[in-house]
Amino acid sequence: MNEARSTAVIDLQALRHNAARLARAAGGAELMAVVKANGYGHGAVDCAFAALDGGAGSLAVASVEEAEELRLGGLTARVLIMSPLAGAGFTRALAAGCEVVVGDGDGVEGITAAASPDRPARVHVEVDTGMGRLGVAPDDAMQLAEAAAAGGAEVVGLMTHFATADEREGPEAGFMREQLVRFRQLIPAFRDRFPGIQVHAANSAATLRDPDAAFDMVRCGIALYGCSPFGRDPSDDDLVPVMTWRSRLATVKAFTSRMSAGYGRTWRASRGTWVGIVPVGYADGFSRDLSNNDEVLVGGRRVPVVGTVSMDLIAVDLGPEAEERGGEEVVILGRQGTERITAEEVARRRASISYEVTCAVSPRVARITAG
Ligand SMILES: *Cc1c(COP(=O)(O)O)cnc(C)c1O
Repeated sequence: MNEARSTAVIDLQALRHNAARLARAAGGAELMAVVKANGYGHGAVDCAFAALDGGAGSLAVASVEEAEELRLGGLTARVLIMSPLAGAGFTRALAAGCEVVVGDGDGVEGITAAASPDRPARVHVEVDTGMGRLGVAPDDAMQLAEAAAAGGAEVVGLMTHFATADEREGPEAGFMREQLVRFRQLIPAFRDRFPGIQVHAANSAATLRDPDAAFDMVRCGIALYGCSPFGRDPSDDDLVPVMTWRSRLATVKAFTSRMSAGYGRTWRASRGTWVGIVPVGYADGFSRDLSNNDEVLVGGRRVPVVGTVSMDLIAVDLGPEAEERGGEEVVILGRQGTERITAEEVARRRASISYEVTCAVSPRVARITAG
C-alpha cells in the first residue's frame, strides 16, 4: 500500500483486449479509439498507445488541447478533433497535424483560413441525421463539402452520430435505423465526388449492436474502457473493465449505537459497529449523490457507504464483527476477491451512466498503469 489517498490502476491488457474485441465487431472497418476527456478518466496517452496496440488505426479527441497532449506524449497516429473549434484552435489543430470535423459554414471558414501548403486542412463533414446537436442538415451536406473543397480543404470523411444507439428496446429503439436511412442516402454522391472518403457513424453501442453501421470506420470510446454502452454487465459483451479504483482504510473506529458519521448526521449507527474512514471524497470524483447510497469492497466483502460524502472522505460501516483495521485495501471500482463493483452499478445508484462515473475520477487520483 503506497502513500496515495487513492489510486486508479489502469489495466492496459484489458484495454488491448477491448480494442481487439471492437475491431472484430467492426469487421473490416477501421477502429478509431476515442480518448477524449483524458481517455474517459483513464489517462489519454497510455490508453491511446494500448488501443493502437490492440488494433485501433486512429484516435479521436474533443479538443485541441487533448490533441496536443497526445502529440506531446509521442503519438503520431491520425487524430480527429470532433468538437467545433474557435479562434486560434483552427491553426493549432492543423499545426498538430490533426483532422477536424466541420458541420457549418463557420467551421469551413475557420479551417480553410488556417490552412497553408505545409499545413493542409483535412476535414470530415458531419451531417445531423437526428442527433440534433452538431452537423449540417442532410440536404446541405454536399454544398458544405463543396465550400470546404473550394477553400482548399481536402474532404476525407463523411460522418454522423446516433442519438439512441444504446437503446436496444423501448420507444426510441427504431430511431437509429431512421438515422441510418438518412445517412445512407448521402453516401453514393460523396463517394463519387470525393473518392477515398471515409464514411463513419458508429459509436461503441452501434458497433456492438449493428454491423451494418460500421461503414469504413467506427468511433469507439466507452467500450474500449470495458464499460457497457448498454448499462448492463460488461462481460455480457465480452468487455473487461480497465479501471480499478482503490484506496485504504485510513482509520477504523468503534461506534456505539446512535453515534452519527459525517456532515448533517444523515446516518446513525443502529447498533455497536466498526466504522472505517476512507480518504476519497467528491473532490476525488466520488459523487456526493452516493451518500448513504453505495457499497465498496473491504476484505473481499461489500460494505455500505454511510453518511454524507465529504470533499475528502467517506465513511463505511464495517459491521460489529469486522476484523479489518487501518491500512486495509478498499476497492471503490473493480474486483476484490470474488466480489466486483462495476461503473455500471455505481452509475445506476446515482441515475447516471458509466461514462460519468469514470470521467469524474479527478486529477487528484494518481493513475498507475499495469499490463
Ligand atoms: C464521444 C463520441 C464517440 C464515442 O462514443 P462512445 O459511446 O463512448 O463509444 C463517438 N462519436 C462522437 C462524435 C463522439 O463525440
